[in-house]
Amino acid sequence: MRFYTHLAFGIIIASLFTKPPWLVIASGFFALIPDIDAAGSFIGKRLPLISGSVQLLLGHRGIIHSLLAAIAAAGIAYVIMPALALPAMVGFCSHLALDMLTPEGVSLFYPLSSKRVRGPIRTGGIIEAAILIILVFLLGHWTLDILGQHI
Ligand SMILES: [Zn+2]
Repeated sequence: MRFYTHLAFGIIIASLFTKPPWLVIASGFFALIPDIDAAGSFIGKRLPLISGSVQLLLGHRGIIHSLLAAIAAAGIAYVIMPALALPAMVGFCSHLALDMLTPEGVSLFYPLSSKRVRGPIRTGGIIEAAILIILVFLLGHWTLDILGQHI
């Protein structure tokens, strides 16, 4: 899936789990992190040395796209700031959930199992576009809800 779909989905899913807007938005950014294992991704292009090294050593959609990495990310976030642990876990897992819908899939339980969980939705295809339209609508609703609480 494209980075903007991951960002929007991470925010919408986090809005179901937590209320403070900054934590919800943080989850959207955590939803971008798994693609650090792809040098050509949105985050990979912004951190080329790290991304290139991770892709070379671990491969794209390997261990960085697993539940183990999600737990590690939440643990690191917790050490940095405990309030970030939930957004990190939610954002990371939202990324994995979307990537599981694509034909490439993810090895969710790597390294225990290399079996990939896959789906039929092509990255950048018409179904992703439809999902994005729904997510943008929901983002608008969430934004109006937040603004309504502060006006
Ligand atoms: Zn990914």
